[in-house]
Amino acid sequence: MKKIKSVHVKPVFATALKVLGFILFLILGIFIFYRVQIRDLTKLGYSEVASNRILFSKNKQKVMSIGENKTLNLAFESDDFNEKYFQNYAKIKYIEQDHLIQNINQLLKVGYSNQDINIILSHGTSESVEAFAKRDKVHYLEEFFSYDFAKLENYDRYVQYSDETGEDELETIIYVNLDNDQVDYDYSELVSKFSLDMLVNKHHRLDENFAPSDLTVIEEEYASEADMQCSRLALNAFKEMYRAAEAEGYQLVINSAYRSYQDQVDLVNFYFDAYGQEYVDKYVAKPGYSEHQTGLAFDIGSRNSRTFANSKEFVWMKDNAYKYGFIMRFDERYEDLTGFRKEPWHYRYVGKDIAKYVYEHNNMSLEEYYVLFLDK
Ligand SMILES: [Zn+2]
Repeated sequence: MKKIKSVHVKPVFATALKVLGFILFLILGIFIFYRVQIRDLTKLGYSEVASNRILFSKNKQKVMSIGENKTLNLAFESDDFNEKYFQNYAKIKYIEQDHLIQNINQLLKVGYSNQDINIILSHGTSESVEAFAKRDKVHYLEEFFSYDFAKLENYDRYVQYSDETGEDELETIIYVNLDNDQVDYDYSELVSKFSLDMLVNKHHRLDENFAPSDLTVIEEEYASEADMQCSRLALNAFKEMYRAAEAEGYQLVINSAYRSYQDQVDLVNFYFDAYGQEYVDKYVAKPGYSEHQTGLAFDIGSRNSRTFANSKEFVWMKDNAYKYGFIMRFDERYEDLTGFRKEPWHYRYVGKDIAKYVYEHNNMSLEEYYVLFLDK
């Protein structure tokens, strides 16, 4: 009995083992084949998730011929992937923004070209692109957004401002980015951090408690009154400039430097009592909107002349102030940009790099410099 039983069982068992071995071999083979395919894609920079989806969507050959592509990678990772936009994803430049694929889908649906979408994405934030994608297709996209500092969220204001004034695109973008298309003081951004390149004007304000972090008293020999204060950095630069001027026979003096928020309140009241509201509106900055509160601005005079604009010191400053990091802030050429009438005596310390750039570019306004390089 025992013998017969073992004769029957052995071949059945052996066959089962063989089948099992074959199945295991097949699974292993498929797995290796699958891993090789995935590896081809991950080597190109596609993630595991994206590579998996690419394989199962049968797009592997297309993706392999396109090569590395971050937008395509994100599209395959995303639940918003739309097969009919495959070629578009491949041609739209990747940018780090939330809901990127969703926004691209929406912009394609509205009718924008791949090139249009590249322009839109590179001038917007996650929020502004999302809002823009919800609108109907707009005109003049390339006209305004050929400048890299043009902002997507300002699109309507660009169109309105250039329609109303006839200004060209560049002027329009600079003006609107500075919020100069808004009523003075009505619409302003709060500036809270002290820095050499900070911008304070009728659309960029300081709060009541702001003071420069390095406030220091100005020695009497440099100033027309005792106990004036300013930023130490600015004072050091002024002293350097003062000595250079002195060596050439020029006598500079500081007539006004740091003014606190409360000082500006008092100043406004003083001019209001003396000359009335119209004068104040025109010539005196409201508290919080004066550059003197930064501690980086000086009203400079000449010890040789009562009118600084007519002094030889003024002429010297024109070609020398920048070497020490100072720029004349309010030129009549750009009253519209700064919001202030010309003030030949008002200088601002911005550091040597910015001052040199400004000097070498036709003494552009700090406002223009801000739009071009600082307003990120
Ligand atoms: Zn001033």
